[in-house]
Amino acid sequence: MAKQRIEILFGLAEKEFGEHPERSNRYVQLARRIGMRHNVRIPREFKRRMCKHCYSYLMPGASARVRLRKRYVTVTCLACNRQMRYPYP
Ligand SMILES: [Zn+2]
Repeated sequence: MAKQRIEILFGLAEKEFGEHPERSNRYVQLARRIGMRHNVRIPREFKRRMCKHCYSYLMPGASARVRLRKRYVTVTCLACNRQMRYPYP
């Protein structure tokens, strides 16, 4: 149940980003709150869509800059300018 709502919220965040990026950030925050309240983890594919520092919605090329390195991906959040690294599969 909670997991479905998180999925819906991230879907909305993606859909609204083009016209209302501030709404996307709000959806991300709601999804986080639901996850915390119900003790449900945010699925990995969505985790990469939010900044772990400021919780902004990350859209590669728009609100995030993605760089491929040899063994990891560096994602720079353009809202707070901080970086996240993910291992490269
Ligand atoms: Zn950020």
